[in-house]
Amino acid sequence: MRGRRIVIVGGGFAGLRLARLLDRRAWRRPVEVTLIDRTPYHLLRPKLPQAVGGRIACAVHVPLAALVSGTRIRVLDHEAAAIDPVARRVAWDGGAMDADLLVLALGSGPRVPSELAEEPGAVLPIWDFDQACGIRRRVQFLAEAARAGRAVDGDVVVIGGGFVGVEIAAEVQARLGRLYGHRARPTVTLVERRPRLLPRLSAWAGAVAGSRLARLGVSVLTGVSAAHVAGGRVHLGDGRVLRAGTVIWAGGSVEAPPVVAGSGLTDGTGRIPVRGTLETDRFAGVFALGDCAYVPGAGDEASEPSAHRAEAQAVTAARNIAAQLDGGQAVEHRPTRNVYVLALGPGYGVLEAGTLRAAGRAPSVLKELVIAQHLARLGGWPLLCGAVPRVILDTFRAAAWDTSPLADGAVRVGTARGWTS
Ligand SMILES: Cc1cc2nc3c(=O)[nH]c(=O)nc-3n(C[C@H](O)[C@H](O)[C@H](O)COP(=O)(O)OP(=O)(O)OC[C@H]3O[C@@H](n4cnc5c(N)ncnc54)[C@H](O)[C@@H]3O)c2cc1C
Repeated sequence: MRGRRIVIVGGGFAGLRLARLLDRRAWRRPVEVTLIDRTPYHLLRPKLPQAVGGRIACAVHVPLAALVSGTRIRVLDHEAAAIDPVARRVAWDGGAMDADLLVLALGSGPRVPSELAEEPGAVLPIWDFDQACGIRRRVQFLAEAARAGRAVDGDVVVIGGGFVGVEIAAEVQARLGRLYGHRARPTVTLVERRPRLLPRLSAWAGAVAGSRLARLGVSVLTGVSAAHVAGGRVHLGDGRVLRAGTVIWAGGSVEAPPVVAGSGLTDGTGRIPVRGTLETDRFAGVFALGDCAYVPGAGDEASEPSAHRAEAQAVTAARNIAAQLDGGQAVEHRPTRNVYVLALGPGYGVLEAGTLRAAGRAPSVLKELVIAQHLARLGGWPLLCGAVPRVILDTFRAAAWDTSPLADGAVRVGTARGWTS
């Protein structure tokens, strides 16, 4: 007799943590846990800004197989092409799987306003590994070409002064600093439509981030929107125009991947509405968590993209899935206050957790420790011990790439695959 089948789609922060929690449980009757992801890797997305800045490379991607070794979790490397929430079926090119309980943890993607730019590639979102590699290569290539006196624009504009935007602006600026030394370098401008940076954090955090960016040399424009991007120019709402060879989108709004919307699961927010138990309202036995889901009425902070929040939801979902399969009382998810730890370039960070605040080197170390703890919790200390030397090795490798000259027209930095070795 086959065990009751729990199928989790998405091996990110929410899905992978949930799979591990379910695997560890002592079940009354056997269950099978299957984790489906379109890539064979777990992406440490909070480290993407460092990858853009050339400070790390391969440590961004951790093979899923290593993270589930020694467990009974079955990992399938497929891209879900259709989800039938009534039949609780996931289909991919060439196959399908039915579930007793289906969990959607597919994450989200950036929602770039369609009116912002008509030209494809005029605005580069920063959300996945390939996008980070692409931006890194582009910034380096344009900077090298500008330095060699070619008629290219090495300037960078980052749109969005939330936590992603400030981290990216700091990393890109620090990287240009390493490439150029004391010579005049391309400019990095951060544009935020609200009156201050980090609008979801306190005014203190916004001011600290602003002065750190200013010290690094980033120009910060607040209270003004990027209205249109075309022909290497960013047209601002107040009539100013910025030149930019690279425009990076770090605006906050996100939506679930198209397969979720295509399956009729999302509402006007572009995400899957769920009850406090994290089960969908309309489809029994279908749970959704992490970035692709939100609890209506729980407030902005409860549904902003957050790895920390995705992992906390996995704990609630594990309890409620067990309650459905083994009997027991479902619990409501209580959103905890987000803990923000930002790395603003090498050796400097900002921490805000309620009234606890700190800035300087300690928060940037803490950020690394939080990620290390995430890895340790998922893969155990052996995995972590294997990862640390790789991070160190990789830091040296990335530094070597940074200083290697680029051949005319060629980009000699690691490919996406090379980074994952
Ligand atoms: C640059 C950047 C920096 C960030 N820094 C931080 C930070 O410091 N702290 C923090 O808390 N949050 C941070 N975040 C947000 C955080 O990374 C996300 O909120 C978190 O990853 C959400 O976890 P998740 O499990 O919902 O989704 P994800 O981690 O995105 O996982 C979703 C998984 O679903 C898979 N998937 C998607 N579509 C399909 C499909 N059709 N078929 C199969 N699999 C599919 C994906 O491959 C992925 O593995 C950052 C985000 C960005 C962009």
